Amino acid sequence: MHEKILKLVLVVMCATLTLRAVAQQRPQLSNAVRAYLSVDAPIIALTHVRVIDGTGAAPREDQTLIMRDGNIAAIGNFASTPVPQGATTIDLTGKSVLPGLVMVHEHLYYPNGPGVYGQLGESFSRLYLAGGVTTMRTGGNVNGFMDLNMMRLVESGQKPGPAIDATAPYLNGPNTFIQMRTLKGPEDARRQVQYWTDEGATSLKTYMQITRGELAAAINEAHRRGIKVTGHLCSVTYAEAAGLGIDNLEHGFFAATDFVADKKPDQCPGQGVGQKTIAALDENGAPFKTLVQTLVKANVALTSTLTVFETFTPGRPKPPGLEVLTPQLREQFEQNYARTSQNTDSIYSTLFPKGMALERAFARAGGLLIAGTDPTGGGGVIPGFANQRQVELFVDAGFTPLEAISISTLNGAKYLGRDKSVGSLVAGKQADLVVINGNPAATIGDIRKVETVFKQGVGYDPAKLIASVSGKAGIW
Ligand SMILES: [Zn+2]
Repeated sequence: MHEKILKLVLVVMCATLTLRAVAQQRPQLSNAVRAYLSVDAPIIALTHVRVIDGTGAAPREDQTLIMRDGNIAAIGNFASTPVPQGATTIDLTGKSVLPGLVMVHEHLYYPNGPGVYGQLGESFSRLYLAGGVTTMRTGGNVNGFMDLNMMRLVESGQKPGPAIDATAPYLNGPNTFIQMRTLKGPEDARRQVQYWTDEGATSLKTYMQITRGELAAAINEAHRRGIKVTGHLCSVTYAEAAGLGIDNLEHGFFAATDFVADKKPDQCPGQGVGQKTIAALDENGAPFKTLVQTLVKANVALTSTLTVFETFTPGRPKPPGLEVLTPQLREQFEQNYARTSQNTDSIYSTLFPKGMALERAFARAGGLLIAGTDPTGGGGVIPGFANQRQVELFVDAGFTPLEAISISTLNGAKYLGRDKSVGSLVAGKQADLVVINGNPAATIGDIRKVETVFKQGVGYDPAKLIASVSGKAGIW
């Protein structure tokens, strides 16, 4: 009797342990999250679907993709891939699946007014997910704890959103942003890295006025802790940063000051001064090729954020998603857009296409190009919508649709060190995937036709996510 009870207790304990192991992989979702679900079943079979797997391989037609307990259990030809008993089957004839987007220059804030950035973690995390983003790194934070808390709330199933790699507040020298701290030297940089990584930050972003000494200290301390460092630089050149061991540089070559003739060490000559030299750069010339070689050899990834630069460029289409903004912010951007359209001698008329050509050259030379959107600037870069636009802009820049998708999925996962679980569609990986009502491998614009976003095998309805914040993005 006694033994029987013990056995029973053990059996119950084992069952609980097993359940917990699964639950950790896929958290219990709160009602606040469940409100946005359209598909939720232990086993799901997507049948007759076109699979674009994120590796750049040609699409495979008429596939069956099985999701079980949050992971991809199988992918194969419809004829030879049996649908398990009890599966919820969804016929996706004519539709495509691609990996959830993995984007690395995202923010939970937005320019609300002169020099003021509103914290929009609540609305933005929903919009990112609605746009097909299932993993993202925030590329700099001006609030402190929102990115860190949101990362944990999403991970524990309490809020909807992509999995977040959360940055600490910017590491920067003397600057004019009222929401940004000023470093007091290398030791201070080291202390900031210690504090914020202790608090849970998983990435660091350095900024335009940092010194080489501070950057070196930050990189050194971060790497000691297994954390990567990126930078939107100006005071430090790309080549200098590569020499100091930086992992990633933001904004393609738009922020490089390597070609400013009288550049003084540790001083930002002004973003505009750097950009003049970039606009005039020859992507086939020796100076640029040498820099690319330096970056590729040092394994420095480059983040493309064409979406934010497009909003500065005259003659470009109006960005998608403006309708989710509050009326005031929408109006503010419409005015910016009209002003930009009239500014026909803007440097961006030459700089924007040049920036595209340089990013393409970097990727062709073997560099790891990754994707982000950067919802800052003068506004108009709307999370989710902008992520789809960024993929389209890669195609404008001369990449094939399959390359554009691969850069925006698998490359980001590789950089974040998450490619064992996300970034491509392979049996055994997490079931993070986007159902598209169309064929983005043929027509990249179809990437906007998101029907369902699966994250850990649970299907979210993008329309519901967007409707929940529409007209309010800007307040929360
Ligand atoms: Zn940014």
